[in-house]
Amino acid sequence: MTAQLLNGRQQAKQLQTELSESFAELAAASGVQPTLAALQVGADSGAAGYLRAIRRSCQGVGATLRPVELPEESSQEDVQAALAELNEDEGVHGIMMLEPLPDHIDSTQLIDLLSPGKDVDGVHPLNAGRLAAQREPHFVPATPAGAIMLLEEAEVDFKGKRAVVIGRSDIVGKPMALLLLHRHCTVTIAHSRTEDLPGVARQADILCVAVGRPEMVTGEWIKPGAVVVDFGTTYIGGSLKGDCEQASVEAVAGMLTPVPGGTGPMTNVMLMGNLLSAYRRFVSAA
Ligand code: NAP
Repeated sequence: MTAQLLNGRQQAKQLQTELSESFAELAAASGVQPTLAALQVGADSGAAGYLRAIRRSCQGVGATLRPVELPEESSQEDVQAALAELNEDEGVHGIMMLEPLPDHIDSTQLIDLLSPGKDVDGVHPLNAGRLAAQREPHFVPATPAGAIMLLEEAEVDFKGKRAVVIGRSDIVGKPMALLLLHRHCTVTIAHSRTEDLPGVARQADILCVAVGRPEMVTGEWIKPGAVVVDFGTTYIGGSLKGDCEQASVEAVAGMLTPVPGGTGPMTNVMLMGNLLSAYRRFVSAA
């Protein structure tokens, strides 16, 4: 068997076109320019690269990016004050905090302070709780939301299927498990303490891997015909590797999100989808 590769680039492009039309309509009707603020503390190259990618995504849909760059030596109080200003600013509809933050900054406290209505990353406990309880409105973290969209477009059947999610982070693994549960999968969440991980993975009709260990999952871990979602993104010698060894997994799986070109391209465009929801709520309430 050779797996069908799910094309995240094509799907993201199509979604970007739809989003830019919606942004343009709302902006014309309201006279308000959609704006995303990105808070960065220090000059980490990873955070700077992410900021460039978000800028491109904003340009792609006609939204404005407002970077707020604070020096590395900023105190917790300084960062909290900048965040409080963005929360209050009526010209800002979405806020994201770029990771990594300097070690002396407590990111949990910042997340708790974030206005839930502007939390386009879906990290505030109110949004996480509303997602878990299936209560609207809430923001779903962009990476798992993009993966679900790819699977839905490929008409993957979720109901009653056995899903295994490897990884339990708040931004990928846990919300992915919830999204699958809400679609009536029987879900197992695996992690670094899971015993017999290959055996657990082999039970999956839908296997999602969000670990960050390049090519950890091989074809031997895959149930024949399974749907495999690879979230992993690790650069090795300039090339991007997923958590799955693509050649051996592709030979056994029924569908696979490749790296690069699978879940990655969907993430930033789904973030723009969350910005649109926040912006739409703002202009409807104004
Ligand atoms: P994370 O916060 O570091 O979480 C990694 C998870 O993997 C943890 O739950 C950890 O288990 C588990 N894990 C670590 N080693 C393991 C092992 N040997 N066996 C089984 N589980 C293991 O990472 P993340 O933020 O979720 O990101 C995961 C990957 O997705 C990374 O490669 C990241 O770059 C990528 N990512 C991609 C996108 C995208 O757009 N495609 C977006 C975000 C992240 P414990 O909880 O037990 O420690």
